[in-house]
Amino acid sequence: MSSIDAVGIDTTNGSSSVFRSPLRTAGVARHTAEFGFELRTCRWAERAWPLESASDDRAIVVARQLGTKRRRWDTIVLECDPVGLRERARFGSDRLDSNLLHVVSNAPAEWTYYRDCLPHPGYPWRYVREAIHEADSRDILETRKSGNRIEIRRKWPYPDWLDRIVAIENKPDLDASAARALSSQLEYDVAIGLADEVWVATRETGDAVEPALFEGLPVEAGILTLEPETLTAEVEWYPRTLSADEPGTRILERPDGGQRDGSAARFEYVDPAVKADKRLAIAERAYERGWRSFVDTMRPDCRHFQLRAQDGVQLQPHCADKRRCQTAAECSGNCPAFEPEPPVWRTRGWPIEGGPGKRCQQLLADRRRRRRPGQDSSR
Ligand code: SF4
Repeated sequence: MSSIDAVGIDTTNGSSSVFRSPLRTAGVARHTAEFGFELRTCRWAERAWPLESASDDRAIVVARQLGTKRRRWDTIVLECDPVGLRERARFGSDRLDSNLLHVVSNAPAEWTYYRDCLPHPGYPWRYVREAIHEADSRDILETRKSGNRIEIRRKWPYPDWLDRIVAIENKPDLDASAARALSSQLEYDVAIGLADEVWVATRETGDAVEPALFEGLPVEAGILTLEPETLTAEVEWYPRTLSADEPGTRILERPDGGQRDGSAARFEYVDPAVKADKRLAIAERAYERGWRSFVDTMRPDCRHFQLRAQDGVQLQPHCADKRRCQTAAECSGNCPAFEPEPPVWRTRGWPIEGGPGKRCQQLLADRRRRRRPGQDSSR
C-alpha cells in the first residue's frame, strides 16, 4: 500500500497547524467512489499522457466535469502545442468566452475601427462593444477613441494552442447496467465528433480478459484499466480517431420502445465551424479550471475538511468526520456534519487570511498555475 500523508488541521491541543500523518485505515475502501477514482484518473493523465510516445513534446492540460449543455465529460485531456500554450498564458488565467475570443482572435495589428476589422458576429454589435471593454479592462486588447468611434489594436495574436481533445469517462465498476448507460453517451460522442478520442477508464480487475471488453461499448471508444493505488494503466482497446474537423451528427432522440419499436432516430448535422468554436470554448474553460478546482465546489471552510497528499504529491480531499474521501456532492453546506472552522484557527498559526480552508484553496490554485507554462510570468 502506498504511503499517504495528510495536510490538515490538528486540533488535539486546541491549536491549528499543518501536519503530516499516516492515513487511518477507513471503513470505506479508497477509490470505490467514482469521485476519488476520477481524481486519480486526472492525476494519472497529467503524468502519463500522451500514451503513445514518451518523447512526445505535446503539453498537457487536464480538467474534469466539462463539456456542452448536452454532454459533460468526466475527464478532459487537452493536447497542446507547447509554444502556443505558453503564448496563451499572456491572455491571463481566466477563460476567454466566445465573445472575447471573437474580438481578440480577429483584432488587427494596426489601429482600426472595430466594425471595419471584426467579422459580423451574428448577434448585435453592442455585445461586441461590451466584449471590447472587457478585453480592455483585462489588459489583453488596446483600445482608443477616435471621435465617437472605438478603435482597437491587438496586444498579441491569439495563439493556435489546442491540438487535440481527449475525453475520458470514469467507471471504476463497469457492470452491465453501467455499460448500457455509458454506451448511449459514447455513441453520442462518436457521432458528433467533438473530441478527437473518447475513452473509458475502469478499475483493473486482474482477470485474464478484462470484463469491460465484453460490454457492448462502441468500438470507436478506447478502454483502459487503471490501478488507482499505483497509478498504472493498461490499454485494453485502442480508440479510433474521430473526425473532429468534419461535420458531426447530433443525436436528438433515439427509439427507446424496445425491440418492437421501429420509429426513427432524430438527429441534426453540426457544422465544422460550430464544432471548432465549441472545442475552443471547452478548451478555454479547461484551461481556466483544471481538475484541482474540485475544492471550489466543496467546503474547505469546514473543520473536518482536509487535503491529503497521496504518493507525496497528489492532494485529495479527505473528510475527518467520514474518515474517507468525500464526494463533492456530500461536501456542501447541506452536509449534516458540516461545522465551520473555528475563528481561532484564523488567528493562531495561520497567517493566511481566511484560515486553513483558504490555505487549502491556495495550495491547489498554486499547483494548477504550475501546470500552465507562462502563467507565473504573465499578469
Ligand atoms: S462538509 Fe461534510 S463532507 Fe465536507 S468536510 Fe465537512 S463534514 Fe466532511
